[in-house]
Amino acid sequence: MQVVTTVAEMRRLRAQMTGGVGLVPTMGYLHEGHLSLVRCARAENEHVVATIFVNPTQFGPQEDYQRYPRDPERDLRLLEQEGTDVVFMPEVEEIYPPGFDAWVEVGESLTGRLEGAFRPGHLRGVTTVVAKLFNVVQAQRAYFGQKDGQQLAVIRKMVADLNMTVEVVAVPTVREPDGLAMSSRNSYLSPEERRAATVLWRSLCRARELFDGGERRAEVIRREMRDVLASEPLAEVDYVSVVDAETLAELETISRAAMVSLAVRIGSTRLIDNVTLAD
Ligand code: AMP
Repeated sequence: MQVVTTVAEMRRLRAQMTGGVGLVPTMGYLHEGHLSLVRCARAENEHVVATIFVNPTQFGPQEDYQRYPRDPERDLRLLEQEGTDVVFMPEVEEIYPPGFDAWVEVGESLTGRLEGAFRPGHLRGVTTVVAKLFNVVQAQRAYFGQKDGQQLAVIRKMVADLNMTVEVVAVPTVREPDGLAMSSRNSYLSPEERRAATVLWRSLCRARELFDGGERRAEVIRREMRDVLASEPLAEVDYVSVVDAETLAELETISRAAMVSLAVRIGSTRLIDNVTLAD
């Protein structure tokens, strides 16, 4: 496995690769969710490039950029075990040199709601860095987790509308045994908060149970999910939403694939999760 920190070195290694290249962008502090992306990439490509970059432009000024967990040595060990060929882990100045001033932005209809509404500028930071990584790595395929459902929809839209040639591959959410979606941010939770955090999954399970029982009124599903969340005193809800999985338009009636998603604060830790409901 080769580890590179500059765009020039990354490009030089890329130029030597023949056959398909799979890209796995991450912010590091890897867990089984990230490794599942790497395994998918490994199975489908001659070469696997993973990136570790805590992207400052996708954090708001009051958010957790400074304290975001980092453990590059452990990350490299895990990536090597999964058969990663190249790890690109640039410093911030390599990606955003002085005077950097170009942005990639998907329109409000996809980015003005959900995470976009609660984290202004977040999705613009994501699309900008992902577009840069696409340009540097020139992968055939790029792997993203369904855990970040809106991010996935926004990246797909960017790729389609800007005629990018990379194929975006979605990978199912990997969960802890009690249902909590794996996340680097779970490390912020105290033992008591960790127990409380299972309320996100319980609320999503309630949505699925209602849907499987024939319920198609989105408002009923949202209300029942909020009731589950209200039973957990440590949980503060940012949003509970039922949207069209592709357009992210809020639904009244579920008649096509729907993404049920939520963002909940447990103490000072903000967690997101989602499931897709489809006939
Ligand atoms: P992050 O390091 O949080 O930016 O995540 C990097 C990639 O891993 C993104 O495509 C995420 O959607 C994906 N990811 C994060 N957590 C999970 C999970 N629990 N299951 C599957 N993919 C995940």
